[in-house]
Amino acid sequence: MKYPSDQTSQYVRALSILALLISLAVIVGWFFHVGLLKSVFPGYITMKMNAALSFVFLSVALLIGKYSNRLLQLSSFIICLLVIGMNFGTLAEYLLNRDFGIDQLFVKDFTGNSGSFPNGRLAPVTAVNFILLSFAMIADHFRNKKLRILSELFAALVLFASFQALVGYLIGLTYIFGSAFYTQMAVLTAVCFVLLSSGELLAFQNEGFVKSLVDTSHVSKLIRSMLFAAVFTPPIMKFVGQKGYELGWYDADFSQLIQVVGITGLLAVIIVSAGSALFKREIELKKAKEDAERSNALKSAFLANISHEMRTPLTAMIGYADLIRDAKDIDRAKYVDVIFRNAEQLGTLLNDIVDLSKVESGVLTIELCPININSIVMDVIELFRMQSTSKGIQIRFDPKYFVSGVFVSDPVRVKQVIINLLSNAIKFTDVGEIKIQLDRTFYQNSQYGIIFRIEDSGIGISPSEIEKIFGIFVQADGSMTRRFGGTGLGLALSHRLAHALGGDLKIVSSNLGRGSVFSFEIPNQILSPRAARRRRPWPRCRPRG
Ligand code: ADP
Repeated sequence: MKYPSDQTSQYVRALSILALLISLAVIVGWFFHVGLLKSVFPGYITMKMNAALSFVFLSVALLIGKYSNRLLQLSSFIICLLVIGMNFGTLAEYLLNRDFGIDQLFVKDFTGNSGSFPNGRLAPVTAVNFILLSFAMIADHFRNKKLRILSELFAALVLFASFQALVGYLIGLTYIFGSAFYTQMAVLTAVCFVLLSSGELLAFQNEGFVKSLVDTSHVSKLIRSMLFAAVFTPPIMKFVGQKGYELGWYDADFSQLIQVVGITGLLAVIIVSAGSALFKREIELKKAKEDAERSNALKSAFLANISHEMRTPLTAMIGYADLIRDAKDIDRAKYVDVIFRNAEQLGTLLNDIVDLSKVESGVLTIELCPININSIVMDVIELFRMQSTSKGIQIRFDPKYFVSGVFVSDPVRVKQVIINLLSNAIKFTDVGEIKIQLDRTFYQNSQYGIIFRIEDSGIGISPSEIEKIFGIFVQADGSMTRRFGGTGLGLALSHRLAHALGGDLKIVSSNLGRGSVFSFEIPNQILSPRAARRRRPWPRCRPRG
């Protein structure tokens, strides 16, 4: 088995090396009689020589066992068997009440503070831990799911036993979870077990229950916090109950009561908060599902609309192309005109759809250039001059404000929005005039923007439609397409483009039969001096007419 991931492998390696160093230090301590190295604190139980040896072996086994190299795996396997043999020997000594000399094989232990066991012999719980951890490492080698689960379970058991021993040392309690392992396990022994069993568990990062613990999902976070609370609640409550009793604040019965009520109460809090977090998550998921369904329905409607919008000009084009075949010469030009107009409409529709999907999927790129907004407006007016004159509508451009200095934005997108607004104004106005104004607006950061205002004296939009007008395929009135043409995409796209430019597009006012006022705000996209230097001379900005 390879290390599941680079990061995991680093952790596993770091943990095993740490355990290796600690146990080697203990061995040095035994050979040179350095009490500090054997037990950390004078008077505490020492890590026995055989325990230190077992740790050295298991650290190496963990270090090399997770590589995909067969030889390394086999060596790790054999090392684990050796540790199992050694510790079964110790257990046998206890069971048979005999001394095979295993304990003092390498060094003699003359220290008096060997706990309640013969000098130099590891506690039964330590021997059992070694056996479990070795089995965990061995089982991990097989590519068998059930054995892997067993491996995780054994490693978790070792972690739990040694962890509670450590907590016991930390807050000085004997029976935290109802047993008293820690009084039999040296501090360093517990530390090494915690390191190695966590290392073994970490190698399972991508499978089993470890995966559900280390994942970044909400549920994993919940499991982690619940586990944290479940592990720390009993020792804390025990500590509180016991200390108060020791200080004479209350009697033994009340101390018991505090512990039981405290643990139950805290666990209840954990369960309720976990439950409510899950419940909240469930509601979020339900909402997300509803949103997804709604957007799916919108997409279907969008597709149906697109097909319809495309079929209409296409049908016209096919029909007129068919007519041309048998038409007299004088009609032909007329029919070609119709085909041309429909092809143009189809082209516009396709462009709008492409742009819209670019904006929606966030891939629309805004190309910033120094622009001359006045000349862009005048260009667009020129573009529509013929159409407005033929309808007898006057376009009045009143540039209240002439932009001086550099104004930076995307000229193509700015023009696109202005074209859409002016095209709508002319389309929906039969009599009167169209007024265009440019104005300036200032922002808090002392920057400024331009407001393009366009007012028509056309049919206007009813209040109920105003809210929906920036939606996709929205036309205020179903009969519009027949009367005025259009796709219902223009405003939706312009609105999104305005936002993409950092500005906004709004309907200032609109009255049925009296006309509408739209405003399009474009901020000056000032570049930082560095970016500006880099951009000069605006290589991508082609001169635009
Ligand atoms: P299209 O004009 O292609 O139908 P738009 O998205 O540009 O699509 O406009 C959507 C709808 O908004 C139009 O069909 C029309 O009902 C309404 N609308 C837009 N501009 C005006 C305007 N200046 N006056 C009246 N109605 C307008």
